[in-house]
Amino acid sequence: MKPYDVIVVGGGAAGMTAAIFAKRRGASVLLCEKMTKLGKKLLISGAGRCNLLNEKLDASFYGASARELVARIFEQFGKTAILDFFSELGLPVCSDETGRMFPVTNQAASVLRVLEMELERLEISSALNCAIKNIEKTGMHFSLKTEKGQIFHAKSIMLCGGGKSYPALGSDGNCYAFAEQFGHTLVEPVPGTVSLAAKNSWCHLLQGQKIRATVTSRIQGKDIRTVSGELLFTKYGLSGTAILDVSDEISIAINREHLQDIYVITDLIPFMGEVALVEELSRRFEKGIARSHLLEGLLPSRFFLPLKEILQKADASTIAHLLKHKEFKLQGTRGWNEAEFTAGGIPAVEVKPDTLESKRQRGLFFAGEILDVQGRRGGYNLAWAWASGAVAGNSI
Ligand SMILES: Cc1cc2nc3c(=O)[nH]c(=O)nc-3n(C[C@H](O)[C@H](O)[C@H](O)COP(=O)(O)OP(=O)(O)OC[C@H]3O[C@@H](n4cnc5c(N)ncnc54)[C@H](O)[C@@H]3O)c2cc1C
Repeated sequence: MKPYDVIVVGGGAAGMTAAIFAKRRGASVLLCEKMTKLGKKLLISGAGRCNLLNEKLDASFYGASARELVARIFEQFGKTAILDFFSELGLPVCSDETGRMFPVTNQAASVLRVLEMELERLEISSALNCAIKNIEKTGMHFSLKTEKGQIFHAKSIMLCGGGKSYPALGSDGNCYAFAEQFGHTLVEPVPGTVSLAAKNSWCHLLQGQKIRATVTSRIQGKDIRTVSGELLFTKYGLSGTAILDVSDEISIAINREHLQDIYVITDLIPFMGEVALVEELSRRFEKGIARSHLLEGLLPSRFFLPLKEILQKADASTIAHLLKHKEFKLQGTRGWNEAEFTAGGIPAVEVKPDTLESKRQRGLFFAGEILDVQGRRGGYNLAWAWASGAVAGNSI
């Protein structure tokens, strides 16, 4: 069988985009996807709304080790190019008040559908239910063997198999081995954008309770990141957007570096400074408000449960200090089934920044989450998938 110009391994956001751009350049393309449908993860992204981009898109929103590569890729295919791409596919997008961008339909299915329509229009062959199990370089070409024993040949391949998060949707990390086989190293993948495990009676007593809070990650005594947002108490620990936003460094410290002494410090009254809170509590004491009602209007009533003992005996400054600096020692993170992203992957320095071609093996390209490029929550990971997919596809 005549070799394809390019075989794309993985039909997620990055793989579909790479296939479209390669085909637009006139290449013969085969898109192989191990699941029975393309873009399964895309469908659940942004809680089904697909936060596909952010108004503020630049390399500073990505992990330090990948920033140089991300900047080079966005020079070629940045926010305007991503918006033009979707506009041309017939997908208008809009932003929310924080700059996160969504399809106007508010449905991830619309994003997947316009991509599938373009794949169909370009007559790109998609092989579904087609897991690549083995890749070899024989002479000028790559030979790819599927789980069912089929063999395809290609002049170039694009590894777009994603990371390890949500393995039930197809990305289970199996594609790292293909890269390693061609001489690449691997930054150990750990769950990213993930809830945290804390054995703390507060979590048990408050499970299901959500509040606005400011949280700070503290690793071995050093404050790493402070974020304001939703804090959710769960039976296993802490979750909510603020926790997800500080989780990457914590996950790396716990799961990759095996460090101890990892904390999240929470400011449960972020709308008031500590001095003002002491004054407010002192006023409440002076008014003779019962200690059991001391925090009414400041925190949901359920907070009386974990605070009962301290409320009964402590003074205003002790209570205020606790509410502004409540510490949670962390035992771990939740696992891959709950992680929205993969921290780790093929190092950014091992690909050429203009093309995303491997520096180790000619004709091997990468795009999307398989690379060690961590974007912040807010549309940055899909932005990376579109941009890297387009640049890799355009490099054929
Ligand atoms: C719950 C959730 C919500 C998210 N929400 C957002 C959001 O709103 N905004 C945002 O920016 N990011 C979001 N993300 C992250 C974002 O969805 C991913 O970073 C992005 O989809 C990665 O795209 P990808 O194409 O690189 O990988 P994937 O989407 O994981 O696609 C990889 C594909 O490769 C296939 N594959 C793997 N191995 C093989 C093989 N051997 N042979 C053939 N096929 C293979 C897999 O089946 C899969 O379909 C979210 C993630 C999750 C889990």
